[in-house]
Amino acid sequence: FILYRLQPQVKQLDAAKVNLIALSSAVDDVISLLDDSDKPYIRSGNIHFQKLKQGIYFESVSFAYNATEKPAVQDISIVIPQGKTTAIVGPSGAGKSTIIGLICRFYNLEIGEIYVDDYPLKELNLHDWRNQIAIVSQDVHMFSTTVWENIAYGRLGVTEAEVIEAAKLANAHQFISELPQGYDTKVGDRGVRLSGGQRQRIALARAIVRNPEILILDEATNALDSISEHLIQEALNTLSDNRTVIVIAHRLATIEQADKIIVLNAGRVIEQGKLPDLLKLNGLFAQLYNLQHRNAHI
Ligand code: ADP
Ligand code: MG
Repeated sequence: FILYRLQPQVKQLDAAKVNLIALSSAVDDVISLLDDSDKPYIRSGNIHFQKLKQGIYFESVSFAYNATEKPAVQDISIVIPQGKTTAIVGPSGAGKSTIIGLICRFYNLEIGEIYVDDYPLKELNLHDWRNQIAIVSQDVHMFSTTVWENIAYGRLGVTEAEVIEAAKLANAHQFISELPQGYDTKVGDRGVRLSGGQRQRIALARAIVRNPEILILDEATNALDSISEHLIQEALNTLSDNRTVIVIAHRLATIEQADKIIVLNAGRVIEQGKLPDLLKLNGLFAQLYNLQHRNAHI
């Protein structure tokens, strides 16, 4: 597990795209221009989606990015329950982000099926579905504009009160208030340089203004110092109330808060359950967990 913390270079465009797609159909044309040509065409279903009722179910899902390569995930059967926090853990390259990509329907599924409540995911209206998902990932894209716009960009027509409320929930309000021009401070290439933790909290606020049914953090806190991480963890504790949260993280503090843990290794689910159950299993998770007490990551 020496390679454990070395993250592969993952294209973060996908996560940005979910957020963009949610904006409005007016930008759909721009999105299609941004679409990577190697990305498959994703057909929208007809079923209107608004709220998750029970959960997201993977049934024997296998997926390979290229037909010639070994599958990135294999025979995945998992339940991501509505309103709970599910942690996905495992070494780099285990298939964690692929699972997120499949949930977002960035790829067409050929083997197995993903269900959302009673419906196959592919039968849901794609815009409705993605509109209810917000992703915060490791590399946050900041626009060269004000803090305000960087948050408000999450949703068209957002009010001043909603932006501030979101920033407060994301534990970002205080540092923003201390910037030279507060919410009007320019950030990005030609503005104030923010720390990684500050950028993550702005990204979280951007996700929060959308009030998504499903909030996904893909290694969002990995590169952060422990204070920033703690602030995000604290925000997450509030945000996860009655929301479906999926966190991919290596730090114990985040994983311990989860209602359910799914352990992936080399594309397969090797263990899943609640923390005490996994410890009792005394398998890979327990091994990593015990190690973690010495070095703060698993
Ligand atoms: P994790 O998020 O757990 O680090 P990933 O889901 O990103 O793992 O990757 C799982 C496997 O799929 C790895 O072998 C990785 O190299 C491969 N993979 C990930 N993204 C792509 C892609 N866009 N094209 C081809 N292979 C990919
Ligand atoms: Mg990943």
